[in-house]
Amino acid sequence: MTATTPLPTRSPRAARSSDPQDVAVVGGGMAGMLAALMLARDGHRVTVFERDDTDLPATADEAFDGWDRRGVPHARQSHALLGRLRKILTTWAPDVLDELLAQGATELTFERVLPPEISDRTPRPGDEDLVVLCCRRLTIEWVLRRAATAEPGVTWRGGVGVAGLIADGADVRGVRLEDGTSVRADLVVVGGGRNSQVMEWIAELGGEVQPTEEQSDAGIIYLSRFYRLRDGQELPLLTKDGAGGDLGYLAFAGFYGDNRTFSITFGVPTGDRELMSRLREPDAWERAIRALTPLAPWTADGLADPITGVESMAGLRNRLRRFVVDGEPVVTGLAVIGDALQGSNPWYGKGCALAGIAAEGLADALVEHGRDRAAIARAMDVVVRSEMEPHYTLACRQDADRIKLHTSMHDGSEPDPIAVATRDFVLNGLLPASRTDPDVFRAFFRSLNMLEAPDALMTDPVVLQRAATAHAAKDQRPPAPTLGPERDDLLALMSLAG
Ligand SMILES: Cc1cc2nc3c(=O)[nH]c(=O)nc-3n(C[C@H](O)[C@H](O)[C@H](O)COP(=O)(O)OP(=O)(O)OC[C@H]3O[C@@H](n4cnc5c(N)ncnc54)[C@H](O)[C@@H]3O)c2cc1C
Repeated sequence: MTATTPLPTRSPRAARSSDPQDVAVVGGGMAGMLAALMLARDGHRVTVFERDDTDLPATADEAFDGWDRRGVPHARQSHALLGRLRKILTTWAPDVLDELLAQGATELTFERVLPPEISDRTPRPGDEDLVVLCCRRLTIEWVLRRAATAEPGVTWRGGVGVAGLIADGADVRGVRLEDGTSVRADLVVVGGGRNSQVMEWIAELGGEVQPTEEQSDAGIIYLSRFYRLRDGQELPLLTKDGAGGDLGYLAFAGFYGDNRTFSITFGVPTGDRELMSRLREPDAWERAIRALTPLAPWTADGLADPITGVESMAGLRNRLRRFVVDGEPVVTGLAVIGDALQGSNPWYGKGCALAGIAAEGLADALVEHGRDRAAIARAMDVVVRSEMEPHYTLACRQDADRIKLHTSMHDGSEPDPIAVATRDFVLNGLLPASRTDPDVFRAFFRSLNMLEAPDALMTDPVVLQRAATAHAAKDQRPPAPTLGPERDDLLALMSLAG
């Protein structure tokens, strides 16, 4: 890995703003940094307030080993960065993308994941966007931080927490800092993450109409452990070996990292405390991953060594906030982005792309509406409704179905017939079709990468027809191989003395 490559150079993209504004960004996580880069590159003067007071590590590995990002509790959980985010980076910050790759990230291209059973391997227009960026979360965060702090239009104020807003009524005019001082700004952008206090800050302004919030339980606890390949070893091939599966009572996946790292992640139903607490023990974890057939290549003897313990993350929710209610902005001069705006079950890997979509929407809104603060708020609402909310709706529906199935597994109640039928259609129709049909696989991978509207896959007549054909033939196929033991057997296996 290159530790001392030069800082990313400024994007050749021309600034679009003819009337630069002073923008205060709250939070220097994924959303805050993406917004800071985009707005600065459009000509605005951006100050980022990041509460964490930590020096920038010298390398990506140092970032992973020791960067104290307590403001991002999921910093050492597996992340996959979907094609939609990569496309946004390609547009706004190709230099950052190049730097990310120079720092050891890899690209999982369409060609690399196309199942070997598919004989038509001819590339088609659009395939160039079908690329998942693979790296540890702290690697992209570290690369973005270096880029943002090197950007001429960005002032970085690390170790400075924001405590609230300053405003004339509901018209936000700046931020109140935790040290008691205030900073005025033309626009405040809140990217404070999943624990952001933005709703309380707005309530303190005392407006008659308050923002709304919907949320639903993601239904899982996330557990991850990272590994580094030993010398001479290579990452498992996804096309040959696969990378995960769903046992019904437990979902699992392998993630490529950067710099010869990878991780394995479990999604455990929130109700299954016994399984969750056993999996948190490293020895039990190692026994569990070795019991799962698709993970065999990831757990081969001599392949890799763990570089972390088992990190768990609970309290995962899908959440959507609206700052325009009945067509009227609740506040002006304020834009909320990232997890503070829309939280998503991490299993779908959409959070960073959603942060990018909101940041990009904001940059475009400033170009279109200049200093018309109400119009900016409305434009952001359009982005939320058209580009973000459909992902929220789909995640809520999928999670509700999964939770119903888990509940029936646990309490022996009759499973929800629609949830059962949907799972059956996906497992025995859509997935088998996607393994042999280039059109279905392409549509599936486009959807996975957020390059189509979330409902596009299940409303595409070609996909539906071919998935239905595959489903109709399910009894003629040999039974799908068993992915792993039943829950009780897995628990028993984890309890064996090491
Ligand atoms: C377990 C897990 C796995 C995930 N996996 C994926 C994945 O595979 N792919 C994907 O795209 N997404 C994934 N996500 C989601 C993704 O990590 C988030 O969507 C993303 O971090 C959101 O960025 P953000 O900037 O909104 O928040 P964060 O990245 O959390 O950053 C918030 C920042 O704001 C700072 N801050 C907060 N309050 C203040 C304040 N008052 N003053 C100053 N600073 C403040 C914090 O210190 C922090 O730096 C995952 C999430 C979880 C929980």
